Amino acid sequence: MRIIMLGAPGAGKGTMSALMEKKYGIVQISTGDILRAEVKEGTSLGRKAADYMNRGDLVPDEIILGMMKNRLQKKDCSKGFILDGFPRTIAQAESLDGIMKDLGIRLDGVINLEVPQDLLIRRLTSRRTCSNSSCQAVFNIHTMPPKKEGVCDKCGSQIIQRDDEKEDVIRKRLATYDEKTAPLIDYYSGSDVFFSVPCIVADEAMDKIVERFKGL
Ligand code: ADP
Ligand code: ZN
Repeated sequence: MRIIMLGAPGAGKGTMSALMEKKYGIVQISTGDILRAEVKEGTSLGRKAADYMNRGDLVPDEIILGMMKNRLQKKDCSKGFILDGFPRTIAQAESLDGIMKDLGIRLDGVINLEVPQDLLIRRLTSRRTCSNSSCQAVFNIHTMPPKKEGVCDKCGSQIIQRDDEKEDVIRKRLATYDEKTAPLIDYYSGSDVFFSVPCIVADEAMDKIVERFKGL
């Protein structure tokens, strides 16, 4: 099964992808996670990407495309994959079409997660991350607060708001989404594998997805 998750920052692509990875036994590929790991390790790719990410801009296509072309050819993709955060521009979608054609594979689903703007902002501004770079546990001050305010449950380090999760950067990320990524809805909506799901409650969204993929 080969799936693309579409949706604004904060729509729940990561959460839904993780649930699907478990349910269907296919690998979740998050470009955001891959990029953050590269930044953390200080690789040349990471150094190139960091400024764009901290500003809420997209990392340039040429960096992302090489990275994803490699990733999609790894062994663990043979049973299928869930793409979380890629493609994010029309150019990336066109390249993905080319890569999949070369590999002789086809998409089974393009899932568009729909969430109202005010809920996106609330979700994104309430996220907190452990400052210990080898822990990086994630909390939410409304829905999943740490037991002791400001302190990581797992390792006791201070929890902080990631630079790209401060309100001004979040507004920038949402504007970038509207400008560059939302057009992908039109790009895919003519295809019979495209469908939209409201993603307010994760379990309910998951039920709808499972229903849609019955028999696949
Ligand atoms: P979100 O979807 O919540 O914005 P991600 O973790 O997917 O967060 O991505 C974090 C950052 O990584 C993005 O703001 C962007 O700078 C960069 N990024 C991730 N995926 C891509 C991509 N496919 N193309 C360009 N930049 C990307
Ligand atoms: Zn921690």
